[in-house]
Amino acid sequence: MTPADPKRWRRDFPLLSVRAHGQPLVYLDNAATTQKPRTVIDTVSRFYKTGNANVHRGSHALSAQATAAFEQARSTVAHWLGIEDSATLIWTRGTTEAINLVAHSWGAQHLRKGDLILLMQSAHHANIVPWQMLAASREVRIEAIPLQADGDIDHEAYHRLLEQRPVLVALGQVSNALGTIYPITDLCREAKAAGATVLVDGAQALPHFDIDLNTLGCDFYAFSGHKVFGPTGIGALWGRRELLESMPPWQGGGEMIEHVSFDATTYAGLPFKFEAGTPNIAGAIGLSAAIHYLNAQDRVAMDAHEQSLLDHALDCCSQIPGFRPIPSGARRVSLVSFELEGHHQQDVAHWLDQQGIAVRAGHHCAMPLMQSLGLPGTLRASFAFYNTHQEAEHLALALEQLVQSQKTTLPVADLEQSNY
Ligand code: PMP
Repeated sequence: MTPADPKRWRRDFPLLSVRAHGQPLVYLDNAATTQKPRTVIDTVSRFYKTGNANVHRGSHALSAQATAAFEQARSTVAHWLGIEDSATLIWTRGTTEAINLVAHSWGAQHLRKGDLILLMQSAHHANIVPWQMLAASREVRIEAIPLQADGDIDHEAYHRLLEQRPVLVALGQVSNALGTIYPITDLCREAKAAGATVLVDGAQALPHFDIDLNTLGCDFYAFSGHKVFGPTGIGALWGRRELLESMPPWQGGGEMIEHVSFDATTYAGLPFKFEAGTPNIAGAIGLSAAIHYLNAQDRVAMDAHEQSLLDHALDCCSQIPGFRPIPSGARRVSLVSFELEGHHQQDVAHWLDQQGIAVRAGHHCAMPLMQSLGLPGTLRASFAFYNTHQEAEHLALALEQLVQSQKTTLPVADLEQSNY
């Protein structure tokens, strides 16, 4: 493992040197979206400057070049996830669209009245609402897998729910609201043993560690490019070939057909059957640049750095009167969900914003989780490998100042001379 070098990493991300409210930006909202390395920005810009054309149906050199880059991007992302058969990787706008694809296509084909879907209490709305919409039209039951008080999944309750033979188990690999890393391989294995089809929302896992879909054990895997340092508006769904082949298309239009007449239409094969219309070509190519960037780094060193950031942030903040971290299980990514007793979360977020510190306050699109915690929402500081220990200290200092009601401005000069 090479030593972590956040200073070097920071230099790759132009946005990290902007100012917010006159202060150096401390960006701790990485779970909402990550910043983009220069290589991603340049790749997207270069595509529009010198490579822009539509893909798959052009009869000119530029289109052939754009098609090759677009399909190469698919292979890059597929290989990153351990997939040889890149036709099983479907481009989507992100995790939300990927899950909607499965709900509309696979769900409509397989779910019958009275069937059971298991979701997680901590699920993001993207892994709840598409299933509810389907359940409403098909009289399918939905049950939530509860969490223990320490934030980990309640295994006994999960096993009991699996005894009811759910048709679908839709899991999250990492909670976006708590940061908890769930034992996804075990959860998938147990769900498969109970006869379920298993979907995993990987949106919050891939920003922190690599995965191998050959060993994870799910049937569908969804993620978003913008959470892994790629552009917005691009993401993917991976599915087992036999499932994808048996599923009907969910959107109709150009690109996804083999032959159209007014009597009958036949559909293209994988992956095009699920990619109606002009895709986000620049987004896919930009995402592959993000993956090349990640592949060129030592992700073990990045993960170690993030874990040390997490420990440091918790250490610093634990000194603050009223700081209450929300229990997040035994293993978690570099994300701290917390309350500051006596202070409304939105007020705290506003105060931090005034100090140049970007965090998120609210329910984090996980309202059922907040209901089970008895909270309207939390404050969430989410770190990436490019954050520094000093930024964690600034978060703690700003919170401390708020608590002490010493609303003085943070020492900007110190921050500027620091690790940036
Ligand atoms: N699932 C999880 C766990 C998420 O954190 C998010 C984004 N906050 C989503 C799904 C939805 O992702 P997107 O908005 O990129 O589709």
